[in-house]
Amino acid sequence: MEQTFIMIKPDGVQRGFIGEIISRFEKKGFSLKGLKLVKVDRPFAEKHYADLSAKPFFNGLVEYIISDPVVAMVWEGKNVVATGRKIIGATNPAESAPGTIRGDLAVEVGRNVIHGSDSVESARKEIALWFPEGIISWQSSLNQWIY
Ligand code: ADP
Ligand code: MG
Repeated sequence: MEQTFIMIKPDGVQRGFIGEIISRFEKKGFSLKGLKLVKVDRPFAEKHYADLSAKPFFNGLVEYIISDPVVAMVWEGKNVVATGRKIIGATNPAESAPGTIRGDLAVEVGRNVIHGSDSVESARKEIALWFPEGIISWQSSLNQWIY
């Protein structure tokens, strides 16, 4: 079953959106497979955002992510990578549709509350980076068609 990496960024944690964000993924029907509150250091954040190292906002982005704890999660379900991105909304909250997490909860692209993997391949890499200890394997007792 497909998995994605979702991170509630420091502003999302500080503004009290952990429950709200988890709730949106739960209500959709996805399964929570990994969850931890962590404060990462600069080399770790630079590794997570390595693909963006040439961008002018890279340093500010890294400063933001290392400033305070984030909530790192693995969510599982059918098409969870693409659907997770839809639940999150466009990168710039000014363009995120109302009803999406960023569309409802954010204003600034540099403080957009949440990260979600952009492909199955980056999800695999990000889960390996953030959960090197592995994740608990469990199966909901509900039928698969709950999706
Ligand atoms: P996404 O998080 O939607 O996948 P990107 O991977 O393009 O977006 O960028 C990673 C993060 O970098 C964004 O979520 C946002 O926090 C930040 N970011 C992107 N573009 C800008 C920008 N123009 N100015 C400041 N921060 C930005
Ligand atoms: Mg991205």
